[in-house]
Amino acid sequence: MAGRLEGKVGLITGAARGQGAAEAALFAREGARLLITDILVEPLGKLAEEIASGGGEVVAQRLDVQEEEQWSEAARLAENRFGRIDFLINNAGIADSAGVEDTTRERWDQIIAINQTGVWLGMRAVLPAMRRAGGGSIINISSIYGLIGSGTSVAYHGTKGAVRLLTKTAAIEYAAEGIRINSIHPGFIDTEMVRDAVPEEMRGQIEPMIATSVPLARMGVAEDIAYGALYLASDESAYMTGSELVIDGGVTAR
Ligand code: NAD
Repeated sequence: MAGRLEGKVGLITGAARGQGAAEAALFAREGARLLITDILVEPLGKLAEEIASGGGEVVAQRLDVQEEEQWSEAARLAENRFGRIDFLINNAGIADSAGVEDTTRERWDQIIAINQTGVWLGMRAVLPAMRRAGGGSIINISSIYGLIGSGTSVAYHGTKGAVRLLTKTAAIEYAAEGIRINSIHPGFIDTEMVRDAVPEEMRGQIEPMIATSVPLARMGVAEDIAYGALYLASDESAYMTGSELVIDGGVTAR
């Protein structure tokens, strides 16, 4: 049976671990050819080897999403190697829990540069290739923190809210060219991002907190998000653009 992404070529950022890595593994199984990118080159290379040993077609490339030049290089590489770009997952991101007065200017600028500017640069870099391919799908990873406030994480919320809306306006701008642009809003997903954010001595409190705040009473896993991204990358979502796909176990339904 043909895979759900058979014939498609995609670029994924932040693919060395967590959700990006789960997406790369799933998409390769579904027939996509992939350029996987991250700043963590060692785990990225290992993932590429694993995917290739399972028969997948994949190239690993260092890409810091803040860097315009590296974006141009990555888009060129994907098109030269595979002949086209059909989808982009703007997944790379960093978290920060500081509030308004505790956020330094330096940290603010860094979070904006990666989580927000990086998403715009990514869209801008792949659009010409998608136009040449006759269409495409861009998936911007926002967060439930782009939908609701938490009382913490001011810079992170700012960037994820921005990703939600820049997705919508870009979706309208490129709809006529067959380029669809949607955002995904994960809830609490069990990845290193979340584990690193919680101090060791407080990790025991995660489960009880999740049990009371998440209607489905568990943390999400990376694959929960990867299956949503698979739908958006595939032609199954052909009538969907400018939308927000919330995958949060029901947190924002309250
Ligand atoms: P993660 O920390 O495991 O993965 C993030 C990846 O992004 C890492 O591999 C990291 O090296 C990479 N990265 C960081 N800065 C980069 C840069 N400048 N250039 C390129 N790559 C860079 O976390 P994750 O949970 O897999 O996060 C993936 C996305 O999902 C992020 O955008 C995050 O904000 C979002 N998200 C996560 C959660 C969650 O609960 N884990 C919830 C909502 C949204």
